[in-house]
Amino acid sequence: MNHATKIRQPALFVGHGNPMNAISQNPFRDAWLQLGEQLKTTYSRPRAILCISAHWQTQGSWVCAVEQPKTIHDFGGFPKELFAQQYAAPGAPDVAEMLCELVNDKQIQATQDWGLDHGAWTILQSLFPAADIPVLQLSLDVKLDFAQHFQLASQLASVREQGILVIGSGNIVHNLGLLKQGVAYDWAIEFDEYIKEALETNNDEALIHISKVGQAAKLSVPTDEHYLPLLYIAAIRHAEDNMRFFNASYDLGSLSMRSFIYQ
Ligand code: ZN
Repeated sequence: MNHATKIRQPALFVGHGNPMNAISQNPFRDAWLQLGEQLKTTYSRPRAILCISAHWQTQGSWVCAVEQPKTIHDFGGFPKELFAQQYAAPGAPDVAEMLCELVNDKQIQATQDWGLDHGAWTILQSLFPAADIPVLQLSLDVKLDFAQHFQLASQLASVREQGILVIGSGNIVHNLGLLKQGVAYDWAIEFDEYIKEALETNNDEALIHISKVGQAAKLSVPTDEHYLPLLYIAAIRHAEDNMRFFNASYDLGSLSMRSFIYQ
């Protein structure tokens, strides 16, 4: 297909990993660049990109409604070159308002207080290098459990038919305390494989109830925030979607870079 025909925009979960992936030469970034090119030829230009990043956690769910989101360098100890990066896409206050109205009981509210954190811009730079599509972020409410996050996200499924491309940005396995050079830990592989199978079989219960996996889940998801964006993407899967993995490998022993797209 060499012309834009698909109506429903895709939904992606992207493992972002090390912030340096944004600017260094690495296979993950190569795949982001390549996928961005593919999306351009397969879909009409999105009205906006909605990004759910591991790096925006709040009390309550907030959507950023600014006209011009600032690039947030929310990390330390990296080279100046990374701090100099800017992703100057416009915001989408109109879409923010639409999201607030779409969900029940005012579960999502608009704020002017955010921009684009590194979970968003480090991948968007490669996926959409022109930075000309409006982008807005939705935060992760620290008070919700996994099932509640999934339920909230499922209310957003229809936005894909309204020209909104949705990206969850985190990592399936993310344990910064145990980073190392060399191959991935056995527990990282075990948990990543469990999630792979759950995704392949559309087993949402398995995705929500990861504690059943035991020690491998505890080590792979020591804190919730990098895993949760995956639930937001799984929750807006459409029955007609095909799922494809990309960057299905590990980095620094305790990061899974496995990513997937529903389209
Ligand atoms: Zn991160």
